[in-house]
Amino acid sequence: MSQSNLILKAENLKQHYQVKQGLFKPDAVVKAVDGVSFTLEKGKTLAVVGESGCGKSTLGRMLTMIETPTEGRLACEGEDLLTLTKAAQQTLRQKIQIIFQNPYGSLNPRKKIGDILEEPLVINTPLNKAERKRKALAMMEKVGLKTEHYDRYPHMFSGGQRQRIAIARGLMLDPQVIVADEPVSALDVSVQAQVLNLMMDLQNEFGLSYVFISHDLSVVEHIADDVMVMYLGKVVEQGSAKQLFETPRHPYTQALLSSTPQLSPEKRRKRIKLEGELPSPLNPPSGCAFHGRCQFANERCKQETPVLRREESGQLIACHGVEEGRVEALVAGAA
Ligand code: SF4
Repeated sequence: MSQSNLILKAENLKQHYQVKQGLFKPDAVVKAVDGVSFTLEKGKTLAVVGESGCGKSTLGRMLTMIETPTEGRLACEGEDLLTLTKAAQQTLRQKIQIIFQNPYGSLNPRKKIGDILEEPLVINTPLNKAERKRKALAMMEKVGLKTEHYDRYPHMFSGGQRQRIAIARGLMLDPQVIVADEPVSALDVSVQAQVLNLMMDLQNEFGLSYVFISHDLSVVEHIADDVMVMYLGKVVEQGSAKQLFETPRHPYTQALLSSTPQLSPEKRRKRIKLEGELPSPLNPPSGCAFHGRCQFANERCKQETPVLRREESGQLIACHGVEEGRVEALVAGAA
């Protein structure tokens, strides 16, 4: 991959929180994100998937600098976001915008759509009122909203339309990267497809790169170029979308995928039940954090933490069972 094609590079990103446990107990450390690395190319989509609590939303907040990582490096177009001056950081941050899950909560109910869209321009650009309005109206058209809705309030729109407004606002500063945190999970299934199609159209038109965060693998199947699966703050499997969906290797990815509904019979997979809950990050299991829920776990898994290794296929996998050949790739179509 040529460096010039890289838009985002994260190296060993960590977010560790000190958590008070009471008067007589020492503080605990929660490793919400614990050493995540990836690269994102221009115009591509990296999906970050995992159950709620796996650290994917914390990662999203670090990528947009809403939270500063406790460790690691984060570069946008080769510039290290974490070592820049505040002013330079502010300029670079405009290139990375975030869209949140809940279009009901992320739009200020007291502001009109026009004001919501123009707010980032007021704060970050010297554009005058007329120029701001022109840009807002053009963006409304791009995301499929009627320009006569410029003076309406968010409650006058459906969930899908509100998410279109949130997407439009995210694009007002001409970003290059959009971090989309569960952008369609609050929407009806029929509306999800429309919003996903819109996001893919906008990606083509503006050459956007997406970090698409989702708990639902079926949502990312058509939009992702690469997929990163997270479990309790760590990456357990990473590879191209084709690899992940056709031959998932890590037992956790296999379980996530097998619980994803598939309409086409040739894509139906053997169902692996994901037993139990995600363990508490306050008290993570020893060894492989997944061992209490994994049908392939052995003594080594309980004691030794697996590290991400690159397989011949190019997939990155953190699993002793895969390394030892105890876990076979789950091939799409296997009954
Ligand atoms: Fe299962 Fe062991 Fe692999 Fe963890 S390391 S996923 S417990 S086989």
